[in-house]
Amino acid sequence: MNGLRAVFASRNRHKTEQVALLLPHVDLVSLDDVAPELELDEPFHTFRDNALAKARAVVTATGLPAVADDSGLEVDALGGAPGVLSARYAGEGASDEDNNRKLIAALADVPEEERTARYRCVAVLVLPDGRELVAEGACGGRVVLEGRGTLGFGYDPHVIPDGETRTMGEIPLEEKLRFSHRGRAFRSLAEKLDAL
Ligand code: IMP
Repeated sequence: MNGLRAVFASRNRHKTEQVALLLPHVDLVSLDDVAPELELDEPFHTFRDNALAKARAVVTATGLPAVADDSGLEVDALGGAPGVLSARYAGEGASDEDNNRKLIAALADVPEEERTARYRCVAVLVLPDGRELVAEGACGGRVVLEGRGTLGFGYDPHVIPDGETRTMGEIPLEEKLRFSHRGRAFRSLAEKLDAL
């Protein structure tokens, strides 16, 4: 499937940068170039359903293959929250800072060893002929109250992946992609694409 041309169904520039590195053999087209007005909703309760909904909406709007991901942070002490609501944990239109402030407030009284969490990502490819590929990746870690690092986005300054002392916000991108939820999900998607 070398040379596949597909729209990446996201306007998140951090995700776009990561996915371009993870799918070097796919010619990724920007959503803004082919469907600037299209709104991508995430109305479902699972990463999988949301990722598929975004990719299917792009295929319907453009007639082109579409790649999408849905991702988030699940914190055990919060019953899996923020989960699929990670981008809007502090409300619709919330910034990363707003979401992090809410997360830290919710965990303020939870001892560090109980602040276990994992990032999860579901990566999908939907083709105009209806074929769909789905792949998942996870990355365990724990939440720290004191944020560190300016690399990455979202909850990265507050998440230390398993086996690390640095936060995700302190780990350079290419290194992070070796073990991150998105790295794992998209490498698995690339393998499934090769097998098509
Ligand atoms: P969505 O996949 O567009 O619904 O957004 C996922 C949200 O989960 C982001 O806005 C972040 O808050 C969080 N998230 C997902 N992946 C990452 C990551 O790699 N680093 C930091 N935060 C992430």
